[in-house]
Amino acid sequence: MVNTKTLTILEAHKKILAGEVAPEELVNAYKKAAEKDNLHAFLEVFNDTDESLKRSTSVKTNILQYMPIAVKDNLSIKGKHITAASKILEGYVAPYTATAVEKLLNKGVVLLGRTNMDEFAMGSSTENSAFGPTKNPFDQTRVPGGSSGGSAATVAAGLAVAALGSDTGGSIRQPAAFCGIVGLKATYGAISRYGLLAMGSSLDQIGPLTRSVSDAQILFEAMKGSDPNDATSNYPTNSDKSFKKIIGVPKGITAGLEKDVKENFERSLEKMRQLGFTVKDIEMSHLSLSLAAYYIIMPAEVSSNLARYDGVRFGLNISGENVIDEYFKTRHNGFGAEAKRRIMLGTYVLSAGYHDEYYGTALKARAIITKEFKKAFQKVGVIATPTTPTPAFKIGEKTSNPVEMYLADIFTVPANIAGIPAISLPAGTVERQGVNLPLGFQLMADHFREDVLFTAGKLFLGENPSDLSSLLN
Ligand code: GLN
Repeated sequence: MVNTKTLTILEAHKKILAGEVAPEELVNAYKKAAEKDNLHAFLEVFNDTDESLKRSTSVKTNILQYMPIAVKDNLSIKGKHITAASKILEGYVAPYTATAVEKLLNKGVVLLGRTNMDEFAMGSSTENSAFGPTKNPFDQTRVPGGSSGGSAATVAAGLAVAALGSDTGGSIRQPAAFCGIVGLKATYGAISRYGLLAMGSSLDQIGPLTRSVSDAQILFEAMKGSDPNDATSNYPTNSDKSFKKIIGVPKGITAGLEKDVKENFERSLEKMRQLGFTVKDIEMSHLSLSLAAYYIIMPAEVSSNLARYDGVRFGLNISGENVIDEYFKTRHNGFGAEAKRRIMLGTYVLSAGYHDEYYGTALKARAIITKEFKKAFQKVGVIATPTTPTPAFKIGEKTSNPVEMYLADIFTVPANIAGIPAISLPAGTVERQGVNLPLGFQLMADHFREDVLFTAGKLFLGENPSDLSSLLN
């Protein structure tokens, strides 16, 4: 029997090795669940899983062999459609496979389908998808978070054993928190971005959404490392796994939060204390600049990255009287409201006369915030915050107020600004209108110290901390 709702990669692998579950039984159980998706988590469920399964049979036995994985629709898979949930990429087929996905395919994973997302990964609710929103598996009147909301929903609802997402300002961790699962954003550059449709290139990272910290580690280890196709990719070997069992909590971080969200965070800290960690307040007076800096740097990069969608090279083309008219018509019809908003904002902050005032200032703030983190990690091993200020909100609740939507990322954005790794761990629930909704506990570590997040995360979730290294090759 395969219980798709609870199974982890680690458990599924053990069951296959023990002969308790046949590979096709595993894949078909998830495929069947995916085909019944009533959350609109998938944009497409692939019909070639039988062939994928055959291909998987030929790889060397390893922990990822046969694992049915869902992939966010901004990651290229050769020969498959890729839309980034935008009409502008209608009909476009990826000409090559993203390195991160390729590495998993080489391990024998079975790709189940493409998951829904906010258009070009801009958003915190998956409501910006041109194909309609995804629903939260805990309460279908609520959002699953975003932009990797489809990926989070597949894992939480048992439609995939794990999923891939991308995180530019929280898009893996925030939906993971809203859906009660684990989400990891690795150090900037740890996983190659080749084949990921670019949003904010200096912030984007591909990463796993999983049911356990061990599974996040398994996928991270398989995807990390330098890639000649991404000059920013790199993973130094670090054999020193020691770290300070001190958790820093930025002073004032819970100010303004609802009482039960605050209490939930305090309970998580208490749990860490019982696990032998010391918890102390740390001064990070520039952290509060992160969101403002992010909403200048990210749109600036968006405006440049999205310039390539001109109706000539990719997807949608609406003919016009001349080529300029064609650009205008295609972009006008192809992009949704949020993409247009950010393109305009980004173009503005980069324009002559405003460049120094906005973009230049944001870059200075970014450098100061990064320095502040570096300084903090001289004294603490981990920094903790809630992942989000609230549990999942209602579909439609924040769509008319973009700034309120942006505030959903207040705790996740700093890690992208500084390029450090961060993980969201499921941390209990709070009740809203009679439904218990999950919350996340976020841990951040110094650059390339994912190992610290895995160790602390496994302790927090009570997972067997035994070294996975024999299973990771
Ligand atoms: N929600 C944030 C935004 O809208 C983050 C998006 C992301 O991480 N891709 O920009």
